[in-house]
Amino acid sequence: MYEHDVLVIGGGLAGMRAAFTASQNGVDVAVVSKVYPVRSHSNAAQGGINAALTDRGDKWEDHGYDTVKGSDYLADQDAIEIMCREAGDEVISMEHMGVIFNRDEEGKLGVRSFGGQRQARTFFVADFTGQALLHVLHEQILKLGVRVYEEWFVLSLIMEDSECVGAVVMEMKSGDIHVIRAKAVIIAAGGLGRVFEPSTNALICTGDGMALAYQVGAPLMDMEMVQYHPTTLKSNGALLSEAARGEGAYLLNSEGDRFMEKYAPNMMELASRDVVSRSEQTEINEGRGVDGCVLLDVRHLGEKLINEKLGQIRQLGIDFADADMAHEPVPIRPGMHYQMGGIKTDVDGRTNVPGLYAAGETACVSVHGGNRLGANSLLDTLVFGRRSGQHATDYVKSKQYANIDDSAANGDKTRLQSILDRDSGTELFGAVRREHGETMNSHLAVYRDQTGMETAFEKLKELRIRNDKVIVHDKGKVFNTNLIFTLELSFMLDCAEAIILGALERKESRGAHTRTDMPDRDDENWLKHILISRTNDGETAVDYLPVKITQWEPQIRSY
Ligand SMILES: Cc1cc2nc3c(=O)[nH]c(=O)nc-3n(C[C@H](O)[C@H](O)[C@H](O)COP(=O)(O)OP(=O)(O)OC[C@H]3O[C@@H](n4cnc5c(N)ncnc54)[C@H](O)[C@@H]3O)c2cc1C
Repeated sequence: MYEHDVLVIGGGLAGMRAAFTASQNGVDVAVVSKVYPVRSHSNAAQGGINAALTDRGDKWEDHGYDTVKGSDYLADQDAIEIMCREAGDEVISMEHMGVIFNRDEEGKLGVRSFGGQRQARTFFVADFTGQALLHVLHEQILKLGVRVYEEWFVLSLIMEDSECVGAVVMEMKSGDIHVIRAKAVIIAAGGLGRVFEPSTNALICTGDGMALAYQVGAPLMDMEMVQYHPTTLKSNGALLSEAARGEGAYLLNSEGDRFMEKYAPNMMELASRDVVSRSEQTEINEGRGVDGCVLLDVRHLGEKLINEKLGQIRQLGIDFADADMAHEPVPIRPGMHYQMGGIKTDVDGRTNVPGLYAAGETACVSVHGGNRLGANSLLDTLVFGRRSGQHATDYVKSKQYANIDDSAANGDKTRLQSILDRDSGTELFGAVRREHGETMNSHLAVYRDQTGMETAFEKLKELRIRNDKVIVHDKGKVFNTNLIFTLELSFMLDCAEAIILGALERKESRGAHTRTDMPDRDDENWLKHILISRTNDGETAVDYLPVKITQWEPQIRSY
């Protein structure tokens, strides 16, 4: 058995920011990650990170208002105030740690425009901001001597007297299963993109963290709020960053019109993501699309700017859509991108389970509500990663280790062996995973309705039965990815359950949750969070929480 004061599950930006803070505060902290930390999905973040810096006349209150409006008034405003107030210091401290942000003509930190914001406040490193932040934080935690269990896969959380006291983890290299005892556990295991197919997310984004928390009774909040990004490639769902529209790209329909004029005359292509995705889908549904897509046109920006600031996405277009954006428009469409919901936490990362914290995309503070603004997620990971690391440090100082031993892993050992022992049948994880993802994409995408969501729920029940019969052909212990993928599939099914239940529950349209059968926002009845949890007897429960409103009363939302 291993032990650490604080165990962080996840080596992405949220996890490493939490670990950095806890380690700096002098507690023994370890990070466990199923991939080498710099391969975490934060690496894929392209466009940038938001902060309102006063030296350019920006105000955190303006950033706060844009975020509240972007969320369609579902986000908690106390959490937004904290995030926006602390954003400037967070960006500057990342710069001091070594992130080389792009500069403007005067040599100051450069900014670009992002959707749903009235001011350019997105700081960036070309179109690989996440990678730059991630590598610097990785260096920093190594410098502090944080223990990193890399390529270790968390199987379950350990509970004792209703408190979280550690995790059961598989070392993928050997297949050995270990207990890691901890006084506090911070889940920073990222998003669940691959619950949908296709998705802009990496194959590793399977919602493990949300499912782990759900399985020990922590509520998941705002799960019905799934963001479809307006600019993804048809061929494989890869993202072309909002940075393109931030730099001035046009969206065109088959008639060559900049159709956003109709839907968001003030903000045009830079309206918030839910608005742009709905507009695109409407154009496509009404016959003004191009082969199921609309067109992203950057030609007028010139090849020099495209190469300097959008080089990576130009290459993505060439590689996966056979279209060079410097010379022709690229076909794009809305695609699953981000989960606004997650494990319900307070502003210090605390969940409803003592000893259990969550931060980053896996968590729901909630600063994104019904729709996240581009470049607010990296900010969320850093601000609330740091705050979780800080609070967990204070929490463990007065805690003793729980009285557990290696036998805490027995349940998982038996479970895994029973999966490996299945030797008849033909069900493979890949087929179940694909059908599952495609079902979610068919019925819980940009537009939804009761019948579609009920169909998805019925399909989910069938897929659960099939999941219990999945055959793992590799019976070995060393890097048994066949087994890992099968375990991830179970996590994904739990996440899907919470998404569909939340979506069926919300009887209105708000943010990313747009119902064709209930098209209006209904503040009177639905200005509240929906929480889905699993009870001790394995049933699901639905609960509500009021939205915290501090200074921005809900208004009609237009861009
Ligand atoms: C293509 C793309 C571009 C984006 N661009 C931007 C942008 O420009 N600006 C912005 O603000 N946001 C952007 N986002 C969103 C943002 O990148 C993510 O929301 C954010 O990086 C998530 O960080 P995280 O630390 O929460 O999780 P991640 O970086 O996904 O890290 C999750 C960690 O958890 C570990 N883990 C998961 N499950 C287990 C398990 N069972 N056992 C052990 N370890 C586990 C993983 O190994 C990983 O280390 C983008 C997203 C995508 C998909």
